[in-house]
Amino acid sequence: MTTFAQLGLAPEILRALVAKGYENPTPIQAQAIPAAMQGRDILGAAQTGTGKTAGFALPLLHRLLSSKAQLVRQRAPRALVLTPTRELAAQVEESFRTYGAYTGLASTVIFGGVGMGNQITALRQGVDIIIATPGRLLDHMQQRTVDLSKIDTLILDEADRMLDMGFLPSIKRVLAALPKQNRHTMLFSATFAPEIRELAKQFLRDPIEVQVAPQNCTTALVEHRMHPVDLDQKKDLLIDLLAKDSRIQSLIFTRTKHGADKLVKSLEVIGFKAAAIHGNKSQGARTRALADFKSGKVTHLVATDIAARGLDIKELPVVYNYDLPMIAEDYVHRIGRTGRAGSNGVAISLVAPEDHGLLRDIRNLTRRDLVLEPVAGFASTGKPIFTKPQMRQARGPRGHGGASTGQAPRSGAGAGAPRPVGATRPGSAGPGGFNRNRQGGAGGRASAGAGGRTGGGQRRSGS
Ligand code: AMP
Repeated sequence: MTTFAQLGLAPEILRALVAKGYENPTPIQAQAIPAAMQGRDILGAAQTGTGKTAGFALPLLHRLLSSKAQLVRQRAPRALVLTPTRELAAQVEESFRTYGAYTGLASTVIFGGVGMGNQITALRQGVDIIIATPGRLLDHMQQRTVDLSKIDTLILDEADRMLDMGFLPSIKRVLAALPKQNRHTMLFSATFAPEIRELAKQFLRDPIEVQVAPQNCTTALVEHRMHPVDLDQKKDLLIDLLAKDSRIQSLIFTRTKHGADKLVKSLEVIGFKAAAIHGNKSQGARTRALADFKSGKVTHLVATDIAARGLDIKELPVVYNYDLPMIAEDYVHRIGRTGRAGSNGVAISLVAPEDHGLLRDIRNLTRRDLVLEPVAGFASTGKPIFTKPQMRQARGPRGHGGASTGQAPRSGAGAGAPRPVGATRPGSAGPGGFNRNRQGGAGGRASAGAGGRTGGGQRRSGS
C-alpha cells in the first residue's frame, strides 16, 4: 500500500499527517495527489467521507510550499477553493489549517451570514488560500476587498451541488476575474453528471479523471429499509421508530425547510432532543445545531439536503429519509452519511404513496430492489393524498412518475405494493423482509468530526 511519504509530499505536510494519525492515503488521495502534484487538472468524483478534501488540500499545500520562496512579502492569495455551503467552507478551511499546521501558510474562510469586517481584516493581513462560498466572494469582489489577481490554483468542491444551488452564474463571474494563464484547476463532484462534464469542458485543461466508487454506487455497508406509510401517518411512524431506541443519534432528512422546523417541534413536544439545520437558519443557529449534535446534546438532527451536504459528521448509525429526496442522486448522498469506514449503517426511508415515482427513480439509480416493508400498525392504504403541490412533488423536477427505464415496479400496485412483515425495529434486522444490501470497497473513511466554525477570520497555519 502506498504511503504518504512515497507520494513525495513535503516533510512539513507529512508531519501534520503523522500528528493527525493518518497512515495511508485513501483511494481518492492515492489517485489525486500525484496527479495534482504534477500540476495536472483533475476531475474527481468523490463524496464526502472519502478523504477528498485532503486529496486536493495536500498537493495544494505542497505546491504552495515549494514556491514559498517566490511569494512576495505582501502576500496575495494564490489559491481559491469554492464550496456550496458555509459549513463545508468552514470544514475545508479547518482541514487546511490541520494539514498546513507546520507550513506557515495562511488560509481564511469567506462566507455569508456573518459580517464582512473580520473577513476584510484577514484579507488585508494577507493569506495564501481562500476558501469561499460564491455569493460572499462576489460581494468582496464588488467592494474590491479581495485581490484575486495572483490566484493560480482553483478548486471547485462539490461542484454538482453548486450547480444544483444555482451558483453557475456566480462561478462564471468569479472565474472571469481569475488570471487565465497556467491556472491549475481541480473540480470535485459526487458524480460525473452531464452538466459537470460540461463545466469541466469549459474550465479544465486536459484533466485526469479520478473516481473512487462507480457512479451511482451506494455507500458500503448500508442496510436500506423502506417503510410504506400514508402521508398523514408519517410523523407517527417516525416517532414510533425513533422511540424504539431514542439513544441512537440520527440524521433525519426532510424535503423542505418548513418541514424540518415542523418536525423538530413535533419531536421536541414528546421529549426528543432535536434541532434543525437548513438554509433559513442563521449561521449561528446552524453552527450551534451541528456542535450540539456532535457533542451528543442533540440526538436528532433534522436537515434539508443542501444544509446537510458536506457535513463531516462521524459514524452515524442511522439516517432517516422522512421525505424521499426529489432527486434520486440525493438518496445516495444522504445515505453516504452512514455505513462509513467499515461500520454498519442503516438508512430508513418513509415512503408515502405519493412518492412511488421517486422510489422508482432511486431503485433505478442504485440498481437495488428496495422492497417496501410495512411496520405493524402503519400499513399504508397505498392511496396518495394528493394536494396540488404534492402532485408536483410526486412528479418531481425531472418528470418523475413517468415512464422509467431499468427495473420495473414490483407488482401491479406499482412500486408501493407492500409485503407485510411483523413489527420492525431500527437497529435490528426485520424478520426476513428487509433488503440487506451490502456492498464493499467504496473507499470511505472514518470522519474525524471537525467542528463547524463561524466567524471568518484569518487563520495562520501553525500559529
Ligand atoms: P472528506 O471526505 O475529505 O470529508 O474526509 C472524510 C474524513 O476522513 C475526514 O474526517 C478526514 O479527517 C478523514 N481522512 C481523510 N484522509 C484520511 C486518511 N488518509 N486516513 C484517515 N482518515 C482520513
